[in-house]
Order: sequence, then structure tokens, then C-alpha cells
Amino acid sequence: MRDIISYTDVVQNEGFNIQHGMNFRPQGKPYSILLMSVRKGAPYNDSFDAQTNTLLYEGHDVNRNESDSPKSVDQPMTSRTGALTRNGRFYKAAKDYQNKKTANPEKVRIYDKIGSNIWSDRGWFKLVSADYVFTEQEKRKVFQYRLEPTNSDGSMSPAEVEEFEFSRRIPTEIKREVYKRDEGKCVHCGSSENLHFDHILPWSKGGSSTDAKNVQILCGKHNISKSDKIQ
Ligand SMILES: [Zn+2]
Repeated sequence: MRDIISYTDVVQNEGFNIQHGMNFRPQGKPYSILLMSVRKGAPYNDSFDAQTNTLLYEGHDVNRNESDSPKSVDQPMTSRTGALTRNGRFYKAAKDYQNKKTANPEKVRIYDKIGSNIWSDRGWFKLVSADYVFTEQEKRKVFQYRLEPTNSDGSMSPAEVEEFEFSRRIPTEIKREVYKRDEGKCVHCGSSENLHFDHILPWSKGGSSTDAKNVQILCGKHNISKSDKIQ
């Protein structure tokens, strides 16, 4: 699994042109897709808790054609016709799971925008809860979804899962800093194909995910040869 990708890669992964940040089971898929960004000036308050690797994802505003200032009105649960909005569909899925109406949480694939046409594949999460609350910060009601990491798409070996878990604990700001410093290339061979964020001192040996000095970019080949050595 690659964790530095372009928007074209995201589209290729999913097989359709993703037009919205929130996609509830798009194209008849058995899972949902959320696009996020914690960049400065990002439109929504998404955040990662690096300790628990939990994602807090904010719902989205009313469509521009329904309000002159979408940021000043409550994020909508339903549309004018009374149908659930994208917010509403995610909210219902979370509540159904919280209220034990469904046994399994909604499975969600997360892509994180790190920079202009630079995305990070955050992998699989499960939607464990949701709130629809008034916040002092925004002076209106917004949706807040809590997502926890899950490994279960079955496509990765245990070693790959472990490696990937380390990688996705790296905060977006650190990824952006490292990407810039390493000029978007493998530090060993200069390749810009199949890139990964790598911990110089492994997470399992106490290496930090929140210090750019301990993170570097490796291509798939050098990433694999390194993880062979660790084992
Ligand atoms: Zn390389």
C-alpha cells in the first residue's frame, strides 16, 4: 500500500471521480469514503489524535445554492425534500451502530490532502460514533464523527499492517514538512514512484512519529528492504 499519492491515484483506487468530501457507500460500494484535510485554511475542522490514532471528522455545510453564507447556518441533516444529506447518512450509520441496530460499524476509507495534488492514503477506519452539536467556536450546529483505525481489508500481511500503522500515526504537518524536505523523492535512490513515509528509528523501538527528523521518504523497494532487515 502506498501512502503518498496523487489525486489521480485516489480516483484510480476507487474507480470513480470523487466530487465530494463525504461519500456514503458511493457507486454501490460496501464501504464509504471521506476526504479530509487538516491543512491551514482547510474548510472544516478535522483533527487527528496521534495518541489514539482517532480521527475527528466534521460534517459538511449546506450547499451553496441553498444559502448565501453556508458557514453561518447549521449543517443540514436533511435536504429540502426531507431526504438525508451526506451528513445525515453518516450520522444515521453511526447512531445505528451506537444503538446496536447494526452489529458492525460503517467501514470508511480515508484520504488526507497534504498539499497541492499530494494525498496520503490513511487506510481503513470504522465509524464508531457521531454527534450533532452546537459549538461555541462556530456558533452553529455541526456534525462531528469519530473514526477509529481498523486493519481489516485483508489485503495486507501482518508485517505490512504493522508498517502501515506506524506510518499513519505521523501527523499531517510532519508529513508535509518531510515531503518538502525530501523533495517528494526516495532519500536513497531519488525515485518518485510508490513512496512511503518511513520511521528512521522504528516506532516499535521508541522512534517518534511527531518529529520530522525521525521520518523520511522511501520508495517501495527501499521500504521493503528496510522492513526485511528489521525482522
Ligand atoms: Zn528508493
